[in-house]
Amino acid sequence: MTRVFHRSVKQTLPVAVRGEGCYLYDNNGKAYIDAVSSVVVASLGHGHPAVVEAVKKQVDNLEFAHTSFFTTEALENLASKLNDLAPDSLGYTCVVSGGSEAIEAALKLSRQYFVEIGEPQRKYYISRDQSYHGYTLGALSIGGHEPRRRVFQPILLNTHHIETCYPYRGKEPEESVEEYSLRVANELEKKLLELGPENVIAFFAETIVGATAGVLVPTPGYFERIREICNEHGVLLIVDEIMCGSGRTGEFFTFTQENVVPDMVALSKGLGSGHQPVGAVICSDKIYETARRGSGILHGGHTFMGHATASAAACAVLDTIENENLLDNVRVQGDNFRNMLNNRFGEHPNVGDIRGRGLFWGLEFVVDKETKAPIDKNSNFHNVLKGVAQNNGLLIYPGNGTIDGTEGHHIVLAPPFIVDEAILRDIVDILEASINESVKEIY
Ligand code: PLP
Repeated sequence: MTRVFHRSVKQTLPVAVRGEGCYLYDNNGKAYIDAVSSVVVASLGHGHPAVVEAVKKQVDNLEFAHTSFFTTEALENLASKLNDLAPDSLGYTCVVSGGSEAIEAALKLSRQYFVEIGEPQRKYYISRDQSYHGYTLGALSIGGHEPRRRVFQPILLNTHHIETCYPYRGKEPEESVEEYSLRVANELEKKLLELGPENVIAFFAETIVGATAGVLVPTPGYFERIREICNEHGVLLIVDEIMCGSGRTGEFFTFTQENVVPDMVALSKGLGSGHQPVGAVICSDKIYETARRGSGILHGGHTFMGHATASAAACAVLDTIENENLLDNVRVQGDNFRNMLNNRFGEHPNVGDIRGRGLFWGLEFVVDKETKAPIDKNSNFHNVLKGVAQNNGLLIYPGNGTIDGTEGHHIVLAPPFIVDEAILRDIVDILEASINESVKEIY
């Protein structure tokens, strides 16, 4: 009998005992292709020797030193490496233990910034429907996915949401892509004027929406207009690249592909490739300098922030991405994956949309491709498919409430950066069989 309070207390999970590259193994010796890098985490695959070695070495020397007494070489190296990777204006990093902590740090640091510059009346955050930024109360408050918020709704912060960029569902047939980008981005301006821009701290957005809507890639010009609106109204732009960043889309940061530079970016998941829990917020020099010249402190903190072993793991991940030219592989295998998914599922009667970038892909399911009618919301199709796929030796990330928090089902696929064409082919084969089996199961 388990004494663990599992995510689902009704389910008995297999026991994972080993990971190697793109595969996980359970205690019965069954192999699973990890087609989603364990929820978009294991960017280098499982048990990458360079990262394992770096973690061992760090623990041998020094596992942890509290950041109120010391800095460490690993922490300094990580911040320097991130500074080298980021655009010039993003110079300073706060290292934390996960995605939600990174978002909490961004929420608080952005508020601190305005207090330091003498605008303490600013108290609102704007974010988007169908987004996810984490489970701590602050992060959940800016999240826009109703099912994840529902139980906690009465105790969440008062935050404000605008429509997300979701062309498959939102673009009008007569509208051009550019017109659509402007229309949805301009929702931010409307919301700012409604709240009074002088009262708003920041706009938060996942550069590519991940788990809650099945990989929504922004349309061209969307983020450029968002940046322009934030500049015009003196509001900070904070991008959440916890899922889509750290190389997943073929460049280290996804915002560079959208031709914008945010005031802060949050990273986690792939940053440590699961070898250690780690997250980071990189902020602009302007924000750092304001604190340096003002209060001289970072308000708030966590015991494990700047953790030496987590930082050492993340440094090894960044070095490996560079040494093994893994972003090239993300681009090359990403193109292969796009072609395979389109060839295999483009005509599939239950696959309405295939979308993504690099090695980050989403499939949205429908009952009717013409009308885009979703599969019955009570069918539990996403979980049926997850179970069938896992049984068939394939790990995928399922989601529901894709369209509006209630309707729609999707999956996220995000294989490790080290994936090759043969494994991608296996993923597509098992996925096709699993989708067909699951459709039969629910009808
Ligand atoms: N932001 C995004 C985009 C995420 O996908 C997640 C987790 O899935 C988070 C934030 C929260 O990260 P964590 O679960 O590490 O707290």
